[in-house]
Amino acid sequence: MISVDRADISFQLFDALPTASLSALPRFADYDRAAIDGVLDMAERVAMDHFLPHAADLDLNEPKFVDGKVVMDERVGAALAAYREAGFFGAGFDHELGGTQMPETVRSAVGFIFSMANIATVAYPFLTTAAANLIDAFGSPEQKARFLKPMVEGRFFGTMCLSEPQAGSSLADITTRAEPQEDGSYLLTGRKMWISGGDQEISENIVHMVLAKIPGSPPGVKGISLFIVPKFIVEEDGSIGPRNGVALAGLNHKMGYRGTANAALNFGEDGPCRGYLVGDPDKGLTYMFQMMNEARIGVGLGAAALGAAG
Ligand SMILES: Cc1cc2nc3c(=O)[nH]c(=O)nc-3n(C[C@H](O)[C@H](O)[C@H](O)COP(=O)(O)OP(=O)(O)OC[C@H]3O[C@@H](n4cnc5c(N)ncnc54)[C@H](O)[C@@H]3O)c2cc1C
Repeated sequence: MISVDRADISFQLFDALPTASLSALPRFADYDRAAIDGVLDMAERVAMDHFLPHAADLDLNEPKFVDGKVVMDERVGAALAAYREAGFFGAGFDHELGGTQMPETVRSAVGFIFSMANIATVAYPFLTTAAANLIDAFGSPEQKARFLKPMVEGRFFGTMCLSEPQAGSSLADITTRAEPQEDGSYLLTGRKMWISGGDQEISENIVHMVLAKIPGSPPGVKGISLFIVPKFIVEEDGSIGPRNGVALAGLNHKMGYRGTANAALNFGEDGPCRGYLVGDPDKGLTYMFQMMNEARIGVGLGAAALGAAG
């Protein structure tokens, strides 16, 4: 059993930081002290009831690669359904998108509580939110309608696909290619490695944010572009279409975050893999740093939460 030190969280939010005064701003008008306490109560309840009970079992029984699919403890999906039901996927996003415009400080406190309970299961929504923020910042209105909205609703999950078997720190060396097509989309070929949440059977779709090079682009990091690559094609009316050519090649084992499926993905080997350029060509790494920075803060927050959980 773990216990969340709410007095400490309140001290951080309301004494160390002026969180209660945010409700004077129009964007955060809903978040007075009582409302924030209510959000934290809800987070603690969902975390303790749905995330904590399977945390140790998930650590002992990591997701498995069976017949080309990820098989994992069914309680992960149930916990994420409860998280979705509570509205946490859309916490920081605009009302127009279906979000609840939660201040970042409060969202971090919520993330801290969930990370204490089960760092591996909450990694899926953390990645989804960061990928959604990336589309929100740099995607076209059409991309936002097609991909961002279902992510805010918690129906589609997200990933970040930077690393390749031969390129980790050295992203200048990535070899994944994106060939422009007549309809404005791109066909991707290549391999990505160490992709957290890279595949699972929980969400309706997976939106991979993928770094790749367009032929003819400048060498090194100046020639990297960012693409949305969905696991399933999303039709114009928002319905789920056929499987896209991004295939799960296998799962990686690790010492921490063991319950977060970590995948090797092949693009364009089992069939055409369609991707959609985000923003301008060759600006991909600059854009991706937004998601990387959010992930870095999330990993730091998670480490502090694990320390607090004891
Ligand atoms: C749990 C986990 C989850 C991950 N999730 C994702 C994910 O979701 N998406 C994704 O794209 N990637 C993911 N990664 C991959 C991660 O981003 C890479 O591991 C990271 O970029 C480092 O790359 P590498 O492992 O190839 O190490 P390398 O780049 O080979 O580095 C090995 C060592 O060499 C050092 N080094 C590297 N280059 C230099 C240099 N030029 N000068 C001096 N020293 C150097 C490094 O500091 C390090 O100590 C994940 C990794 C882990 C462990």
